[in-house]
Amino acid sequence: MFCQNCGTQLPEGVKFCPECGAPVEIVEPLRNEPIVENIAAEPIQEPVYETPVQQPIVQSNPEAAALSTPILVFGILGLSFACIPYVNFLGIIFSAIAKGKVKQFLGLGGVLSGKAKVGNILATVGLIIGIIFTVIFAIIITVAIFGGILGALGENGYIRGW
Ligand SMILES: [Zn+2]
Repeated sequence: MFCQNCGTQLPEGVKFCPECGAPVEIVEPLRNEPIVENIAAEPIQEPVYETPVQQPIVQSNPEAAALSTPILVFGILGLSFACIPYVNFLGIIFSAIAKGKVKQFLGLGGVLSGKAKVGNILATVGLIIGIIFTVIFAIIITVAIFGGILGALGENGYIRGW
């Protein structure tokens, strides 16, 4: 290292030049500070122990399951009879029985599927068709009877044969 003023070689560690007395500027080499990289420290993740969600096992109550077949049978009978003239009302009865069993089935915690589901649909349709046909037949019969009476009255002013 040399004095910046007079150029004399300086011994190490001196603060002033022994020749001219000029203060020795200690030119410290720029220290390359090691850049401490901020290592994005991953937060230590606590292992999450997931409690396995227990799926409710859909298991129909055996009592409810036993009703599946009757529901289907009465559902079929209900819809069948609902479509048969003169006995449409039987369709209403059978459908109503099936519906009652569906209610019982659901009350026992039964899940409508398979036979019970089909039976329930048939019973619903049977009930609607049975009621419609019964009403239609009732009207037809009523009209026929009144028509006959009125026709008889219209012809002679009294009911013939009565
Ligand atoms: Zn000097």
